[in-house]
Amino acid sequence: MPFQVFEAQSKSILSPTTGFIARAGFTHSLTPARNCTFGCSYCYVPTMRTYGGLQPEDWRRWGQFTTFKANAEALLRRQLRAEQRIYCSPLVDPYQPAEEEQQLMPGVLDAILDRPPRVFAIQTRGPLILRDLPKLIELSRRTTLRISFSITTNRERVRTLYEPHCASIERRMEVVRRLRAAGVETFATLAPILPCDPEKLAALALEATDRDIIGDPLHVRAVKPRGATTREAAFAISERHEFSAWLDSEFQAEVIARIGSVVAKAGRRFATGPEGFAWLAQ
Ligand code: SF4
Repeated sequence: MPFQVFEAQSKSILSPTTGFIARAGFTHSLTPARNCTFGCSYCYVPTMRTYGGLQPEDWRRWGQFTTFKANAEALLRRQLRAEQRIYCSPLVDPYQPAEEEQQLMPGVLDAILDRPPRVFAIQTRGPLILRDLPKLIELSRRTTLRISFSITTNRERVRTLYEPHCASIERRMEVVRRLRAAGVETFATLAPILPCDPEKLAALALEATDRDIIGDPLHVRAVKPRGATTREAAFAISERHEFSAWLDSEFQAEVIARIGSVVAKAGRRFATGPEGFAWLAQ
């Protein structure tokens, strides 16, 4: 997908957390850009509109451009504190495709290496994270670093329907294995859970990591009346391909139970929502 890359000076880089991420135990979020060039069909962020720090053009043209915070490293050097538990990021993937050209994250990691917070967690699905592996290995030695790598389905056809601009599932599994082999604490995070074979997806996650498994079904209004939710584009894809049950809360509960059963048999824990994401913040 062609996309445009912009830069802007930002007033702040770390925000005190609220909602889901605060309940998980994070004190701050770090968001290096506005808008995400992965442009996933289900992305919750554009539904947050101004509450997600977006401008109208962002939610109207989600994924078609991004605006990097050019002064991210300098801001971070002023705002970092030793007691912080930082989640990067609830509003954008720090290793989105545009990061390949922008190269903002190496500077962000340099600032964090110089003044490490108590916990730094990176939420991503971008294989580009491997570019920064030496810095991540060093950061693992200085503080609690956790990578939460999104694995959304075991079916490649489903992946191409809902997140065509993301890497294949096979490539993502390979990245998880490489991060783990390098000694970086890495979770295979099943979020959001797209149409899949629940037992096979659970087995993939168990095989790739030695951690507990975090998950989250697609957010729906039936169980989440307010706040960020699934984009309309994902509802349309689900209807067209007869996957609408995956947006039904009772069906989702069955899928969660099936994944949980496989994970429990392997002697590990499986949790969704803030309970699962709390394992990243501890
Ligand atoms: S990678 Fe995350 S933030 Fe980016 S579009 Fe996809 S769901 Fe949204």
